[in-house]
Amino acid sequence: MATVEKERLRTNLDKVLWKLEEARISVSEHHIVKLVGVGKYTDVENIATLYALGQRAFGENQVQQLESRMKELEDLPLEWHMIGSLQKNKINKLIELHPALMHSLDSIELATELNKKLLVKDRKMNSLLQINAAAEDSKSGFCTDQAFDMYQQISETCPQINLKGIMTIGAHTEDTKVVQKSFEDTRAVFERLEKSGATICSMV
Ligand SMILES: *Cc1c(COP(=O)(O)O)cnc(C)c1O
Repeated sequence: MATVEKERLRTNLDKVLWKLEEARISVSEHHIVKLVGVGKYTDVENIATLYALGQRAFGENQVQQLESRMKELEDLPLEWHMIGSLQKNKINKLIELHPALMHSLDSIELATELNKKLLVKDRKMNSLLQINAAAEDSKSGFCTDQAFDMYQQISETCPQINLKGIMTIGAHTEDTKVVQKSFEDTRAVFERLEKSGATICSMV
């Protein structure tokens, strides 16, 4: 059974990597793209299998699950990302876990609180500003016209947070034009922020 599952994962990973590579080349041969596998609802064994197939970066949307999986898989040199909304009472735990990147800085309040707690522990955290590109009620984050100013503000007032760029989850609709626009609008924000040192544009 295990080998069947491994072959299924290999096929899926190959498909994703081919699509990614096609898209990457269409932008530029020098364009750098990183795939972050989202663990979420999958069994922890599948993460280990994907690592064996060559996938190294993984994300979780809950601090508790991130913690348990980091522990269970601590012998593997994985790169862990926090992708979900961060509750204030989980900030200290996340600082202890020290993820490679936190994708979901979605309010000034969270940034202020995170910065304060990082300062106490004399730690830093690589983070992305979350953009709610289609201004959906179901999602948190900054709308595209606030994003630029908020990015500068957090950079200036939260020195423990290493802002590396922005993250957006594409609009949740069947209308592909709307989805595409949400990515394009995010991309436009990113291009302005590149002049302020942003290097990562995370999109799903
Ligand atoms: C689920 C998910 C999120 C959001 O996590 P929430 O817990 O809903 O905030 C973000 N990014 C990706 C890729 C996800 O799959």
